[in-house]
Amino acid sequence: RKGEYKKELVDISRAGYVRVRVDGRMYEVTDDIPMDRYKQHTIEVVVDRIVVKEGIERRLTDSIEAALKMGQGLVTVSIQPADGAVLPSNVQAMIDRQPADEVEGQEGWSDLLFSEAYACSVCGYSMPDLEPRMFSFNSPYGACPDCTGLGTKTEFDPDLVAPDHNVSLRDGAIKPFVYKSGEVKDWWPEMLDAVGRACGFDASLPISQISEEGMDAVWNGLPKPIEVLMKYGRSERKFQSEWRGVLGSLRKRYEETESEWVKQDLEQYMSTKPCPTCKGRRLKPESLLVKVADHDMSQITNMSIGDAVAFFSGVTPKLNKRQLMIAERAVKEILERLSFLLDVGLGYLTLDRNARTLSGGEAQRIRLATQIGSGLMGCLYVLDEPSIGLHQRDNRKLIETLMRLKNLGNTVLVVEHDEETMLAADHLIELGPGAGEHGGFIVAQGTVEEFMKASSSTADYLSGRREIEIPKARRQPRTPTEPVVLKSDKVMLKPKSKPKSKVKS
Ligand SMILES: [Zn+2]
Ligand SMILES: [Zn+2]
Repeated sequence: RKGEYKKELVDISRAGYVRVRVDGRMYEVTDDIPMDRYKQHTIEVVVDRIVVKEGIERRLTDSIEAALKMGQGLVTVSIQPADGAVLPSNVQAMIDRQPADEVEGQEGWSDLLFSEAYACSVCGYSMPDLEPRMFSFNSPYGACPDCTGLGTKTEFDPDLVAPDHNVSLRDGAIKPFVYKSGEVKDWWPEMLDAVGRACGFDASLPISQISEEGMDAVWNGLPKPIEVLMKYGRSERKFQSEWRGVLGSLRKRYEETESEWVKQDLEQYMSTKPCPTCKGRRLKPESLLVKVADHDMSQITNMSIGDAVAFFSGVTPKLNKRQLMIAERAVKEILERLSFLLDVGLGYLTLDRNARTLSGGEAQRIRLATQIGSGLMGCLYVLDEPSIGLHQRDNRKLIETLMRLKNLGNTVLVVEHDEETMLAADHLIELGPGAGEHGGFIVAQGTVEEFMKASSSTADYLSGRREIEIPKARRQPRTPTEPVVLKSDKVMLKPKSKPKSKVKS
């Protein structure tokens, strides 16, 4: 602020500090410092001056703490490299990022401003404290505010609202403004006429002949009211109206109607696209600024489990001592969990894969992986054909995982038709003799060895007493005489109905 600061300088001197920097120049507090009482001045207290060498850590810490206290969370570190010395590259990079203001007599010195808060003292930008919920799109603290964390937005699509560019606005190019009979709904032609007059185009021309700016006004509205001309019989009326654009009008109608029918009717003009704000990344911009080894949260969740294992295995060598102290345990835990998923043959799934799109076998195996991680014992796990959808190569891994669960002190009951799994069981039970209502009896049971000796069809096949013969002749496919042609003007992917609640998984 303005003033001569006589009192402040006395206080600084009393606190035991000798030097101050006023408007970038160094003085002793007792100097006659030129300050204009009608101008703004910046006074900085020099808390300490230290030559960087071994053994200064303690003093440096104390001084920084004292400075932070005095500066209410802000401290400037002024650096002058020794003659011919080069600053470490990360320090130089920090200096290069700060606004440089060279002051006479201060050549060779570079300032670094540090803040205890996640805030920039230059522009006032601030970040909330980092918390786990900032990285979850299920939490309002982490979700992109535009799409509330869905990553997509369902909005009115100009291509669906006006599919035919050879029709004029007046004659019903905007499909939601046209009745089934083909007649354009009341008052819209006059409104669109008025938009045309305001922007200098003729609303009775095909929309393909209207300029881009003109169509932008049609879609997105105009800042100023438009003058609408209505004809009632022979009389004419003029009035001013706000123009929120076709898209805005449709959105308003969609949001305000209470009729399910109207909503459904309007939904045919909507399409789902990646959210323009987060570009489908689902998190708010601040959360995406946080990076681990140059990767933000969405880049990591975009990885397949296999790639994520490779990424996290490569993280620790890249960290310095301090970062390692923070990250080492977390990285270890993450790798452990990922490897459980890898062990049940799910390495190809991406981490952001929607749970609703998983096959039954995949979902079961994910739950299995979390169970192994929990390390519980004394539990009974019941699995229904966990090998479904599993590559034969990974079947062995799945069986090993089941064995691990057993060895932890659990019982695993598996309903399965897979031969390899059956042979790996400690105890086999065959229910039959037929399927459904024709079964329900225990036909055979015992260890694999005992089971093989039993008289049951499964035992016969498992032991090799019976085999399914490979047919000598196979059915020939019928060759179509004419090629199959798929015809469509346009291929559109649109969900049949919007989910009623926002289920995010
Ligand atoms: Zn800033
Ligand atoms: Zn978004």
